[in-house]
Amino acid sequence: MNSETEQPDDQSGHQKRQQKLKAQVDARIAAATEDKGLLLVITGNGKGKSTAGFGIVSRATGHGQKAAVVQFIKGGWACGERNLLQQHGVPFAVMATGFTWETQNRDTDRAAAQQVWAEARQFLADPDIQLVLLDELTYMVAYDYLDLDEVLAVLKARPSQQHVVITGRGCHRALLELADTVSEVQNVKHAFDAGIRAQQGVDW
Ligand code: ATP
Ligand code: MG
Repeated sequence: MNSETEQPDDQSGHQKRQQKLKAQVDARIAAATEDKGLLLVITGNGKGKSTAGFGIVSRATGHGQKAAVVQFIKGGWACGERNLLQQHGVPFAVMATGFTWETQNRDTDRAAAQQVWAEARQFLADPDIQLVLLDELTYMVAYDYLDLDEVLAVLKARPSQQHVVITGRGCHRALLELADTVSEVQNVKHAFDAGIRAQQGVDW
């Protein structure tokens, strides 16, 4: 109930409910004592997956942590976050051909995926890197450009305090199961469906 609709008589009831809620939240916060490198997956059909992934990279970088980014799609495309974060020393590994839904050649796409995956593996083996963003990795698994078992093994073997963020639609169930935190971005509406093209600064 918000304060505008709340009647004076409700005040003590409200206070009691809030106190109870606070006690419950405090107890849960007190119980959560573990530190661990997390695997986060941001999936779903709505807009905001890569934006959220880059938001976490910015957050970590802002704390002086070392982060690295691997982009498994749209390598040839402009990317505002890349322009900014590279200036702050964040290394980027970008797929050479820029995999898109337009490409038809499985062999060159697969080779490009394997090449950038080799760079990703180096990040995922480096204990000095606290956060790795694997942007659009889900498609590499879905198209079988990367071997699922190998991806799972490398993720499991990474330094214990290293966080990893995976973005992309249609995330494989095995990755969702391995993840600590999974968010699904739902599409409610998107400007593109009204004929508006991708806007610089908002979409890329
Ligand atoms: P963003 O990079 O904006 O966070 P995303 O990572 O969630 O988006 P992708 O599937 O990677 O989404 O697609 C990236 C591009 O496609 C962006 O330009 C984005 O605005 C656009 N896009 C994302 N979701 C939709 C949608 N539901 N309909 C149309 N275009 C979309
Ligand atoms: Mg994306």
